[in-house]
Amino acid sequence: MITGCSREHCTQQENLSRCSRCLVVQYCSPAHQKEDWSSHKSICAKLKKAQDVVDKEEAELRAHPGDMWMSANPFEDHEGMFWSISETRPYMRARYGVVDIQMTMDTQLAISAALSNIMDMLRLCRGDNMGVRDIAPGLFLRLHRDQECYDFVKWWARVYSGEESKTYDWGDMSQPYLSIHNADVFEDVNLFDCGEYSEISTLLPIMLIKIRLLLDLRMLHATPLYQRSNMRLGTDVIRNNATLLATQDRTPQIAEVEKQIQQLYDAGCKANKQTWLAVMNPEPIVKRPRPMMITPGGVDDLHLNLLYNYKAWGETRGATEVLEEFVRRNAGRK
Ligand SMILES: [Zn+2]
Ligand SMILES: [Zn+2]
Repeated sequence: MITGCSREHCTQQENLSRCSRCLVVQYCSPAHQKEDWSSHKSICAKLKKAQDVVDKEEAELRAHPGDMWMSANPFEDHEGMFWSISETRPYMRARYGVVDIQMTMDTQLAISAALSNIMDMLRLCRGDNMGVRDIAPGLFLRLHRDQECYDFVKWWARVYSGEESKTYDWGDMSQPYLSIHNADVFEDVNLFDCGEYSEISTLLPIMLIKIRLLLDLRMLHATPLYQRSNMRLGTDVIRNNATLLATQDRTPQIAEVEKQIQQLYDAGCKANKQTWLAVMNPEPIVKRPRPMMITPGGVDDLHLNLLYNYKAWGETRGATEVLEEFVRRNAGRK
């Protein structure tokens, strides 16, 4: 992912200016912007056009005088319930159009903007009729916001298919929404067991979070305390845990996380036999045209969730190797 100047081979990270059209690509100088223009211009124009549609739809909604179905001020009065008011749908579809482009871009600004868009779309439409929530975990992970990713996935797992699914009232705005914060990332993985419902959208990000934990724990275990200051930890979960950072022997935690990875591995194979092989080698699948209809556990389900997650996996050094380790461990098992 590009955090600095978007001109190829430029390493400049400071004093950057944004492209004034798309706002999600940065350059260190007008010269580098000019040199990059031929490769940037097509996506820039696409994104600008999609954003213009959002602005137009938003202006129309705000100018609406209100009627018996929609208040004159839908952004305040219908927060959370947008999809049930059909006048808001073109606006929501337009925002999806923007996310769709931003999420394919490789700059930190574009990924942050896509995630902010998704979180705001969920605020406006709690029930997520457009299915944007499955895109969010991969974006959180690309931004190294593992704790927030975990909390987000856990909330949906609990309320959508877990213990609260029978009692949660989507129409009651006083109910807590996305209300899990700082959950214990080391906890048992059984809570992500979704039964018959598609598990792949949950399994791919949770597996990557656990693998990042494992990679960091192994590194902590192998690094003497006095050398810890130079260590580059992959996950904010461990970076923010003073107790874990201050102790040398991480054997019990390593064993526990490995056990959880094995459980997730089994769940992934159960959901679709190809799950982990596809994660290790996503290119042939993600290049295919995007599926329109999804059957839980089917090849299209795997395809779509791979699209949402494969970049986060690719950007985590060592993650595929850990998966390979588990594929080998399980090779002899039925
Ligand atoms: Zn641009
Ligand atoms: Zn530059």
